[in-house]
Amino acid sequence: MRILVSGAGIAGLAAGINLGATGHDVTIVERAGHLRVNGSPVDVRGDALDVARSMGVLDHIHARRVTMTERSEFIDAAGETVAAVPLGEIGDSVHDIEIPREDLAHVLHGALTDRTSLVFGESIAELQDDGDGVETTFASGRRDRFDLIVGADGLHSVTRRLTFGPERDYLHHLGFYVALTDLPAHHDGDRTSRFLNWPGHLIGIGHYNDTTIGVLNFRSDWIDYDYRDLDAQRRILLDAFAGHDEWRVPEILDAVANDPELYFDSVSQIHLPTWHRGRVVLVGDAAHCASNLSGRGASLALTGTWLLAQALIHHPDDLEAAFAEYEAGQRPYVTRAQDSAGPGGDFIMPATQAALDARNERLRAM
Ligand SMILES: Cc1cc2nc3c(=O)[nH]c(=O)nc-3n(C[C@H](O)[C@H](O)[C@H](O)COP(=O)(O)OP(=O)(O)OC[C@H]3O[C@@H](n4cnc5c(N)ncnc54)[C@H](O)[C@@H]3O)c2cc1C
Repeated sequence: MRILVSGAGIAGLAAGINLGATGHDVTIVERAGHLRVNGSPVDVRGDALDVARSMGVLDHIHARRVTMTERSEFIDAAGETVAAVPLGEIGDSVHDIEIPREDLAHVLHGALTDRTSLVFGESIAELQDDGDGVETTFASGRRDRFDLIVGADGLHSVTRRLTFGPERDYLHHLGFYVALTDLPAHHDGDRTSRFLNWPGHLIGIGHYNDTTIGVLNFRSDWIDYDYRDLDAQRRILLDAFAGHDEWRVPEILDAVANDPELYFDSVSQIHLPTWHRGRVVLVGDAAHCASNLSGRGASLALTGTWLLAQALIHHPDDLEAAFAEYEAGQRPYVTRAQDSAGPGGDFIMPATQAALDARNERLRAM
């Protein structure tokens, strides 16, 4: 089949590998002008490790794994340690792999074969599914026809909007926002990641490999803004953290104000009863975002695209049957991941000073 994949994140690249390897001609369009390689380390867990092995990328993932800083701690306004974060609490098992998101993207990108082409600075504007194929108009005005459209365009998926309707019908905001910003690398040998809280807020500095990142989280009801507008994102963040100049907060906010690759989004989940309609199918966050609090987004992207490719092999002439098999295989992973996200926000940014004190007390007692 001629397959169009929208988005070159973890799910889009994995779709390119898995669908290309099973004999399809794949085109990936990515709205950004380059691979978006920022983000903190992400986990590859459970069955996703077997999928990565089958995709031929597990050794490369292993080679780039990080031991996420030797130590993470919560600090007070003066930078003094309040409580250590037990690393044992993070992750499912010792077999989980933590890898910088950028390294995972590069590994997957490197595994694409010449069956898959990748077009940057392009996105889908219109889809017309006539039953035998999908007439596709791109933002550039170019038109083409594909047998199958795979929406891998993330939490705010355009493919999903064009096929299933507005985002507000499927997006469940969990009440938090998250941002990551690059900070200049520190080479003083101190590998401790430090996080400062005040009620409903967390701001900190994380280290892995040679990278240092600023991390910001805050509680908020849904904020209406154009999610592609970087200036609006900066304004929201600077407002949320305004009035704080303790510890290294000003340095992190300065990075927010100047980082052209700032990552900012709501912490939300996508709940859809089904991930396909006609010749359009969704994978990754576009289909079933579990939020960064689940720590399972990358794993879901790998298992989902693998299951989809396998299902298309099993049902070469019956898309409905293939999609049903894909969804039946992937749904249990998604349910588990979405259910696991709940308590994460209360742990990293308790809502009240009393809850904050209680968390620190509990950690100190461990
Ligand atoms: C820059 C960035 C940083 C991230 N950092 C973290 C992190 O630190 N921790 C964490 O848990 N999760 C993070 N995530 C989310 C995480 O990558 C996903 O939850 C998970 O890997 C599933 O990936 P995905 O490919 O479905 O979605 P995403 O990784 O969000 O990828 C979606 C891709 O689609 C592209 N895209 C969006 N709209 C269009 C469009 N209309 N047309 C074409 N392309 C489009 C985006 O530019 C992006 O490359 C980040 C995502 C991004 C984009």
